[in-house]
Amino acid sequence: MNEKLLTIRDLTVKYTVEKVVSYAVNGISLSLNKGEILALVGETGAGKTTTALSLMGLLPRYTAKLNGEIIFKGKNIMGIGEDEYRKIRGREISMIFQDPMTSLNPVFRVGEQISDVLRIHNKDMNPREIQEACDKLLDQVGIPPSRKDEYPHQFSGGMKQRIMIAIAIACKPDLLIADEPTTALDVTIQAQVVKLMRTLQKELGSSVIMITHDLGLVANFCDNVAVMYAGEIVEYGSLEEIFDKSRAHHPYTNGLFGSLPNIMEKADRLTPIFGLTPHPSELPEGCKFHPRCPECTEVCKKGDVPVWVNGGHRIQCHLVFGRMGDE
Ligand code: SF4
Repeated sequence: MNEKLLTIRDLTVKYTVEKVVSYAVNGISLSLNKGEILALVGETGAGKTTTALSLMGLLPRYTAKLNGEIIFKGKNIMGIGEDEYRKIRGREISMIFQDPMTSLNPVFRVGEQISDVLRIHNKDMNPREIQEACDKLLDQVGIPPSRKDEYPHQFSGGMKQRIMIAIAIACKPDLLIADEPTTALDVTIQAQVVKLMRTLQKELGSSVIMITHDLGLVANFCDNVAVMYAGEIVEYGSLEEIFDKSRAHHPYTNGLFGSLPNIMEKADRLTPIFGLTPHPSELPEGCKFHPRCPECTEVCKKGDVPVWVNGGHRIQCHLVFGRMGDE
């Protein structure tokens, strides 16, 4: 479990479209061990999906500019050519996208779509072996293999997401990225899909990056949590560290938890986070959370923000650094 699979160092991604520069990811660093499940948590526009697409080599090459390092299995894959990326994508790193309704190709049978991935990445498999592997994958995700000749529209939303999972795990990837995999599903189907993902992750031993804003899903599924805001990781820690209310937290993390109903506590109202995430082309100076932060002081409005570190727990905040810095 302590063997490193992925290290991201000081990753920045900016997009330039019609001379407007958007700073989507602003110097994030993290690492992932083999078999570890990491949650990337934050609101829409926090840079979670851009981070994932950077790992997949799927950002538009002409508008997105990346800097930093992405060390995957000991090799820096930042900026490698498309041919090299094709060998990694699907085979070593694969992704389950948010919306199964639009991620499957409507004009191909689901069995063909699974078999294609197997065929591309396993040149030595013969057609019979590919069919057997396809049947096994469908079986693993709880879909009768007899339905492999049907088209995506013949399946429910939950079943389509299971097919997407079958495609993503077809080559037993070392790293599986799941981008809001349950958002488009209703609650009971969400629970089934999460249970399936947990079972498969244990069977395959893959590492997982789970992108979500669902803290319930994080609590049930993940080992470590990175809280992202405006393209930065503002807090990072183990599940226990992030969910333990008695510990210090970033005001944004407190805001995320304050926005959730808690059946264990009596409260008349929830306390949502005031305001909106800034647009990546108009990020504020200083702490990027300062226009929304109830604890903001003058020092927060300019310059770099210090990071308080306690073992693996990190919080980027003047207030926490000032209060806890000497502990
Ligand atoms: Fe709030 Fe200041 Fe901490 Fe930013 S640095 S989160 S504005 S207290």
